[in-house]
Amino acid sequence: MMFKLSSRSLKNLKGVHPDLVAVVQLAITRTPIDFMVIEGLRTLERQKELVRSGDSRTLNSRHLTGHAVDIVPLTNGKVSWAWPQYYKLAPVIMDCAMELGVSLEWGGDWTTLKDGPHWQLSWGKYNADDMTSRRRKKLPPDVPDDIDVIDVPSPFAQIISAIVALFGRFTK
Ligand SMILES: [Zn+2]
Repeated sequence: MMFKLSSRSLKNLKGVHPDLVAVVQLAITRTPIDFMVIEGLRTLERQKELVRSGDSRTLNSRHLTGHAVDIVPLTNGKVSWAWPQYYKLAPVIMDCAMELGVSLEWGGDWTTLKDGPHWQLSWGKYNADDMTSRRRKKLPPDVPDDIDVIDVPSPFAQIISAIVALFGRFTK
């Protein structure tokens, strides 16, 4: 079975480094278990919140610059926090990175504060302000190469919201 990135995953890949996006796009076509990108680019405000709540220990997160994503396996459509699922997913993602020549690190390999969902481009190869692609291989032809995420609602949804707006004008 081949999986596809959900619209939520695609949305969370906006502003993320193209090499990291490419790895995720390839990985979704190879993974034995479905997964979702729950977070990509992060604001400094949110990072500060995470540090306050103890969910993160750094204000120097690679999420702030689009060099990290959080990926969670899905079991029957539900987010899984079970390590065995992460250990099934991790080698697939790592293989895709190696194939594309992308230097990637997994939070699950960290010795302190293991972070199963976390994937980041290596500091050694990618500076904080560096958004240039340097992967050595193109994505295979069957993998979509762009993530133009459409936030524009469908024409039908636009009509509905126009009606709702009109109706709201009379009721308020
Ligand atoms: Zn993360």
